Amino acid sequence: MFEMVNVVVVGGGYAGVMAANRLAGSSAVRGLEVTSVDPGVQFTERIRLHQVAAGIRGSVGVEWAEVLHRQVRHVQARVVFIDVNKRTIVLADRKELRFDWLIYAVGSGEQATPLLSVTNYAAARTTGQAIAELPSGSTVTIAGAGPTGVEVACAVAVSRPDLVMTMVAPSGPAHPLTGHPAVARRMERLCITVKNGTVDPSTGAVVNAGGNVQPAAGATIWTVGLTVPSLAADSGLPVAEDGRLLVDETLSVPGHERILGAGDAVAVQGAAGGHLRASCASAIPLGAHAAGSLLARLAGTAPPAIDIGYLMQCLDLGAGRGYVQSVRRDDTPRRWFLNGRSGGWTKEQVCRMTVAWLAKEAREPGSYTWLSGPPVALS
Ligand SMILES: Cc1cc2nc3c(=O)[nH]c(=O)nc-3n(C[C@H](O)[C@H](O)[C@H](O)COP(=O)(O)OP(=O)(O)OC[C@H]3O[C@@H](n4cnc5c(N)ncnc54)[C@H](O)[C@@H]3O)c2cc1C
Repeated sequence: MFEMVNVVVVGGGYAGVMAANRLAGSSAVRGLEVTSVDPGVQFTERIRLHQVAAGIRGSVGVEWAEVLHRQVRHVQARVVFIDVNKRTIVLADRKELRFDWLIYAVGSGEQATPLLSVTNYAAARTTGQAIAELPSGSTVTIAGAGPTGVEVACAVAVSRPDLVMTMVAPSGPAHPLTGHPAVARRMERLCITVKNGTVDPSTGAVVNAGGNVQPAAGATIWTVGLTVPSLAADSGLPVAEDGRLLVDETLSVPGHERILGAGDAVAVQGAAGGHLRASCASAIPLGAHAAGSLLARLAGTAPPAIDIGYLMQCLDLGAGRGYVQSVRRDDTPRRWFLNGRSGGWTKEQVCRMTVAWLAKEAREPGSYTWLSGPPVALS
């Protein structure tokens, strides 16, 4: 007889699904029971939410059965507390689930604001409805000029060319990806104006660089700042200042060896994690690595440190156009880039690949590696 080992994966995004699939499909350990806990009715393709906000797509949901290994038990619920001592999680309906091991993968969102946003499916749908109801000639203000802001602005400009689009950020599109001249040209073509200033997160008023305040008009979409759920902090687990769960280079929580973490909700300590950015591109290899670390511990071997390198960063610039920036393993840009239709085509293939990787890992466990050697992160 062998003892059952119960692993709970909290959060069913890119990181959590990859981790759950890799564990469920592993033949290295007998008696592994994997439970994925997530409040969503379906898996959310979060990297396409700007398309929902623009009314280009009605849904970005994928059936759990399509992306999860058939031996993963899926529980549709929100976790409100992790009781480390009792090794249980508490769900919103106060039910409890026991775990032997836990992978924390609750992802991220934008800073809380009453303004419109695209941070999750519900928010993106509300934004989509608000945009659809705007009379022709109305103003849409996008707070932030990072990748999400640019993707939202381009998608809305394509679907509603009759609206007046403005992006507001303290120093315009200063982000290395969105600041490229090819991106600026595309936005100019779509008549998206970029203003230096800030947006008040409570009222949507725009304070321009000279200090003048313009009250909110039309619709304001907030795309700034990363926040994470407070679950780790609420549960007394070690967190960084911004609430991300602290993990070491093997993705284990120091002092809590049965808890590991992956994706946007964790801060990896040490040099191996220094270059990681919150992204789907990082979440998938981190999820795979967290599962690998857990399996190594179960096998009584030392888990390896992460070794994740990037390949490219991409932007969807609307109507099949895109911008793809080749980067070094440490995410610093190379000279090579693609834009226009070839950039858009490549970006679309990357988006498709993310779900395809999860689905393939569900059917052929261990299949997710990119090229050979350590995982390389796309998008
Ligand atoms: C519009 C948009 C475009 C983007 N484009 C790109 C892109 O092109 N490339 C890229 O690399 N990244 C992109 N991103 C970022 C990317 O989506 C995230 O970095 C990625 O989703 C992080 O993956 P994750 O698995 O850590 O978390 P998530 O995908 O956020 O998943 C976390 C899951 O945990 C669940 N959860 C949260 N709290 C709890 C709880 N208490 N209990 C149970 N479950 C919980 C959530 O409901 C969610 O399903 C984009 C994001 C947005 C919003």
